[in-house]
Amino acid sequence: MDKVTAIFGENVFNEATMKARLPKETFKQLMKTIEGGEKLDPSVANVVANAMKDWAIEKGATHFTHWFQPLTGVTAEKHDAFIQPTKEGGIIMEFSGKELVQGEPDASSFPSGGIRATFEARGYTAWDPTSYAFIKDGTLCIPTAFCSYTGEALDKKTPLLRSMEAISKAAVRVLKLFEGNEAVTSVKTTVGPEQEYFLVDKSVYDKRPDLIYTGRTLFGAKAPKGQELEDHYFGMIKPRVQAFMKDLNEELWKLGILAKTEHNEVAPAQHELAPIFSTTNLACDHNQLTMELMRKTASKHGMVCLLHEKPFAGVNGSGKHNNWSISTNTGKNLLDPGATPDQNAQFLLFLAAVIRAVDEYQDLLRISVASAGNDHRLGANEAPPAIISIFLGDELTAILDALEKGVPYGPHAKEKMQIGVTVLPDFNKDTTDRNRTSPFAFTGNKFEFRSLGSNDSIACCNIMLNTAVADILEKFADELEGASDFNAAVSALVLKTIKEHKRIIFNGNGYSDEWVKEAESRGLMNLKTTPEALAHLCDKKNVEVLKKEGVFTEVELKSRYDIYNDNYAKIINIEALTMIDMTKKLYLPVASSYANELAGVVAAKKAVDAGIDATYETDLVKKVSSLTTGIYSKLQSLEKAECEVKNISEVDELAAYYCNKVIPIMNELRANVDELEGYVPASKWPVPSYGELLYSVR
Ligand code: ADP
Ligand code: MG
Repeated sequence: MDKVTAIFGENVFNEATMKARLPKETFKQLMKTIEGGEKLDPSVANVVANAMKDWAIEKGATHFTHWFQPLTGVTAEKHDAFIQPTKEGGIIMEFSGKELVQGEPDASSFPSGGIRATFEARGYTAWDPTSYAFIKDGTLCIPTAFCSYTGEALDKKTPLLRSMEAISKAAVRVLKLFEGNEAVTSVKTTVGPEQEYFLVDKSVYDKRPDLIYTGRTLFGAKAPKGQELEDHYFGMIKPRVQAFMKDLNEELWKLGILAKTEHNEVAPAQHELAPIFSTTNLACDHNQLTMELMRKTASKHGMVCLLHEKPFAGVNGSGKHNNWSISTNTGKNLLDPGATPDQNAQFLLFLAAVIRAVDEYQDLLRISVASAGNDHRLGANEAPPAIISIFLGDELTAILDALEKGVPYGPHAKEKMQIGVTVLPDFNKDTTDRNRTSPFAFTGNKFEFRSLGSNDSIACCNIMLNTAVADILEKFADELEGASDFNAAVSALVLKTIKEHKRIIFNGNGYSDEWVKEAESRGLMNLKTTPEALAHLCDKKNVEVLKKEGVFTEVELKSRYDIYNDNYAKIINIEALTMIDMTKKLYLPVASSYANELAGVVAAKKAVDAGIDATYETDLVKKVSSLTTGIYSKLQSLEKAECEVKNISEVDELAAYYCNKVIPIMNELRANVDELEGYVPASKWPVPSYGELLYSVR
């Protein structure tokens, strides 16, 4: 066997391993839970736990952990050894069904938005048998959901699973109305997330407090060369990066992660990794693991992996593309156009559902990608804008147009297009992928949501997407279930939906200013910042749909509103404090001592002979001094703004304050410091420059 095949999934307790290791009856029971969502019998859990433990110990594991995804956005784990003392003073290695199924991390420090009073701090983790257990760093990791004792979700996984259930139920209702779907009992959404990242050398990273504290550079004048030559995109991969990628791939493959495509991205030092798609909850786990392993593997290679959405001003930030589709338990991709009129009617109905869902829940999709870091990208002419719209491609749009008008499509066609009667003409799927400026693009047999930031958990956007589409599919089912003429009803529904929601379809350049105006005239939302977007999370229609689909209770949603605002405010606060610190301890002292040196030269020259020319030093000392004064005054403004924060008690007001009052001062301070950087000798500048950072990996 070749090496890749041999190592693939070796650290995963996957179906093949379960089948080999579990008694036949236990395996059957467990598969019923995994595939059919049936409740798991405690006696089965004991057998599974024991088999898992034996397997893990054989692989060198000594500990286990419930692995979960709290609202911090990263994963959490607390390790327990398998050891149990015996009467004889020795130990045995044990792991019970109870320990597998439920855990109790002391969770008082995870964000809960007031759901859990700290005196009642205990939340619990519950095994998610639909995600395989795996071994990481000598620890058996059990993927779990994290809830409060009163049952509220405190994590990103629980609502994701709920949203998958919601869309499954709704889609099955619709599918049952079409012939040929008798064997369909569930659908799963599938996701392939493309992940962008930067690599910098550890030695330069260590000298940048801003990177260490905030993950991005808060200062830094542009390097003479950025990405303008576009010579990095798809360029030759440097040997050091290649070695990192090789190592990373192997680690990912061992965990059963389908790492497939890797290449250099647009900005210097920027790269991308894309896996083959999988079921959404698995894709979510895998994406978290991928990010973690990127960091760890980089560190083994003397580098640091930056996953921040905007590590460097002036060059592209990093995003994540969420390729999304829906497929049935019988293996049919519902966003793949079919070969017969009947299949096409079904495809068009699902397409129409997505179009309407994205239009009606633009705000939820926008909110799902809102973060302090991503605010630097959305709408900044490098990433899809903050306005949500759909790209269908000119051909598919023209086909829908012909359907809507009941006219022939294409130069040679004679017959008018009719849903459920005509076979869709073949449209060139390649052209559907050309527009990189659209936030939500149809790419032939899936949609690609491109607004995510590199650091986002993909759970958030898929929760909203699944819920929104579930809602519309249910409305469609309500309408179609009683129809006397089903084909005519489908046709009418698709056409009505396209008519009412085509404002969300935009095939042009999403980065242009004209689009901003056009979108406004179409009544589309343009929520530019995180606080502005979050303000819509608890809008009546959003609370209602999330409640109705069983994804969030009102309490959960309100708590998330608080947590996200709080998180935003905290991030900007850390950035502001880091700027204050760097300005006081690094930049101002250097500016002052350089001015002193220059003034010394001027004085020394004059002392030799009053007629000696000291224009250069005099001009420079003036410039440096005036910039120093500017920096000092911005610093004072920033400190003052930070003081005023104490008077604000509501988290949403706090987030808005940081957004509207603090960030503008930070920008001014940065501009002054960056200008100063242009005048101070490289040998005196206290931190590595952009040039040194962006070209540090050679
Ligand atoms: P690109 O967007 O760079 O052109 P591709 O179109 O080849 O790349 O694929 C991008 C991602 O979409 C990959 O992760 C791929 O596995 C994923 N993908 C392909 N088909 C589906 C599907 N049906 N559902 C979800 N993701 C899919
Ligand atoms: Mg893509």
